[in-house]
Amino acid sequence: MNERLQKVIAHAGVASRRKAEKLITAGHVKVNDEVVKELGTKVSAKDIVKVDEVPISKEAPVYYLLYKPRGVITAVSDDKHRKTVVDILKEVPQRIYPVGRLDYDTSGLLLLTNDGDLDNRLTHPRYEVEKTYVAKVKGIVSNDDLKQLRTGVVIDHRKTAKAKTKLIRTNQESSIVSLTIHEGRNHQVKNMFEKIGHPVEKLSRETYGFLDLHGLQPGEYRKLRPHEVEELK
Ligand code: URA
Repeated sequence: MNERLQKVIAHAGVASRRKAEKLITAGHVKVNDEVVKELGTKVSAKDIVKVDEVPISKEAPVYYLLYKPRGVITAVSDDKHRKTVVDILKEVPQRIYPVGRLDYDTSGLLLLTNDGDLDNRLTHPRYEVEKTYVAKVKGIVSNDDLKQLRTGVVIDHRKTAKAKTKLIRTNQESSIVSLTIHEGRNHQVKNMFEKIGHPVEKLSRETYGFLDLHGLQPGEYRKLRPHEVEELK
């Protein structure tokens, strides 16, 4: 049966379908030793598909939950040679990559997988999973501030969706606030707090859907349990 090239690459666990499309258009993909940049290209089981000269093969899907420490980049590799989240999981033999991203200076829960379909699903706006962040922010956060976050603030001409908030504690200099959102825009939490006049000093993602960091320290990771994988799908 002929399948679209990007789907075949995603199924092989090399990248999500969207990332596979980028690899194709950027000229990283060869079919039977010819570079193919056309996204609609169909391939069969007999065709030899290579990404960056490495033939793809169907790997069993694997799923990991990492407690990302601060000062680590959410990427597979980095031009500036900074430590990446994949460096932390270097013992894992499969070619895994992060689902979504956390900023360099953000810590917390990050999933990594080689399952392109699951990555696609979890990062698609239609299925956006609920995520809870705990932020240390500048200044005293008032009830009014929390209400603004809950009802939505305008970022890049678009209002953020409804959110949940909880003020954990506050003193003269800073406040600790928990914010639960289900969108995944770039730097969303930092931008939301910036917008209400309380810049983020420290940020951590505590939950991702039903998953949390229980039992892990920064830099530690574990495999997802089979029932957790089922629940995510
Ligand atoms: N929002 C941010 O601003 N940064 C993150 O790392 C995650 C969500």
